[in-house]
Amino acid sequence: MLIYSIAVFLITLPLFMYGVYLTRNHAPFGTVFLIIGAAMAFWCCGLWFLFRVNRDIKKFAPKCPSCGSIATWINRSQILETGLCPKCQAEFVSITNK
Ligand SMILES: [Zn+2]
Repeated sequence: MLIYSIAVFLITLPLFMYGVYLTRNHAPFGTVFLIIGAAMAFWCCGLWFLFRVNRDIKKFAPKCPSCGSIATWINRSQILETGLCPKCQAEFVSITNK
């Protein structure tokens, strides 16, 4: 996904620069090029950010001590209520104040 977003960014950068060139010369459709280029560049930055966030979640998320599956935002409430791993049903966290 990172290589994909870099490729899209390298395509949109000339489009953006051409849009800047056209708006400087007051040509028609200059701002359209500018807006499309800027929107696609922001989209690439968003993809890159999501890629980084996903990688950091996989790297730093708490892991089950017996099967090694990570705790995600989807199954966090289930883990915090029962204290058990949703995959292997072993003890994920120890809940003391029951
Ligand atoms: Zn487990």
